[in-house]
Amino acid sequence: MTNLWFTEKWSKDTRFSIKVKTHLYSEKTPFQQIDFFNSEEYGNFFTLDGFIMVTEKDEFIYHDMITHVPMGTNPKIKKVLVIGAGDGGTVRELTKYDHIEKIDMVEIDERVVLLCEKYLPITACKLRDKRVNLYFQDGLEFVKDSKEIYDLIIVDSTDPISVGEGLFTENFYKNCFRILSEEGILVNQHESPFYENFKVEMVKAHQKLKNIFPIATVYQIHQPTYASGHWMLGFASKKYDPILNHNPEQWESLNIKTKYYNSNIHKGAFALPNYVLDILNK
Ligand code: SAM
Repeated sequence: MTNLWFTEKWSKDTRFSIKVKTHLYSEKTPFQQIDFFNSEEYGNFFTLDGFIMVTEKDEFIYHDMITHVPMGTNPKIKKVLVIGAGDGGTVRELTKYDHIEKIDMVEIDERVVLLCEKYLPITACKLRDKRVNLYFQDGLEFVKDSKEIYDLIIVDSTDPISVGEGLFTENFYKNCFRILSEEGILVNQHESPFYENFKVEMVKAHQKLKNIFPIATVYQIHQPTYASGHWMLGFASKKYDPILNHNPEQWESLNIKTKYYNSNIHKGAFALPNYVLDILNK
């Protein structure tokens, strides 16, 4: 056990490893392989099908940015649909907004939620908030059948393989568009521009969103435990421009406490390096 390392494949010739103190739990569900580990450097962390989802040390970056960027673009958002996100970090951030009335969260695998409540309470702590409705079903089916209208949809999914694949399809994005209000915003986990295997998926997702939404762009985060550390989130909307409509004073007046997000980060995250612009504009 003293020399146990978790290793994730980032590209054909690249691996990322974390030294593990304890392999806390392992289970194969009908949807995926779930593992929880404890480590000195990253605290508790969990993986699905061998890919890191959340670590206690760096989760705040991803969850701040997938939540507060849309909320900082339209702070009046009241009804939110979250797809995936079983660890609860996105819901934790959303519950900081007193004026959000309803958060529907659709997670395909109930075991992720139950196990995160046990091993990752740091993220799962608000899943039983009274505004949160948990649905354990495929997000693809949920949006296809939904008659609700949301102000914001956050797609906090796994990569476009296995159960997460449908959440990167044009059909899914079209249904999201249909159930968004006139001022609606969609934000999604958008892969990475750095390694070829992730880059291909990033470009495909961006093209599909651009075909459907009048405004579609990506923004960047620095996520140390995701492949290359240079990770993208997608921003698509019917009306709101993430830079033009961001009002720092209005957001700051809400007094939301964050560890990563602030107004400068909001603006800066959309300033994309040339190599990313080249990929997107090809
Ligand atoms: N932040 C993470 C990342 O980028 O790697 C994602 C975290 S969250 C744990 C992803 C969740 O999406 C998983 O719990 C998985 O079960 C869920 N998921 C995958 N496909 C889904 C689908 N089709 N419908 C609903 N939830 C899905």
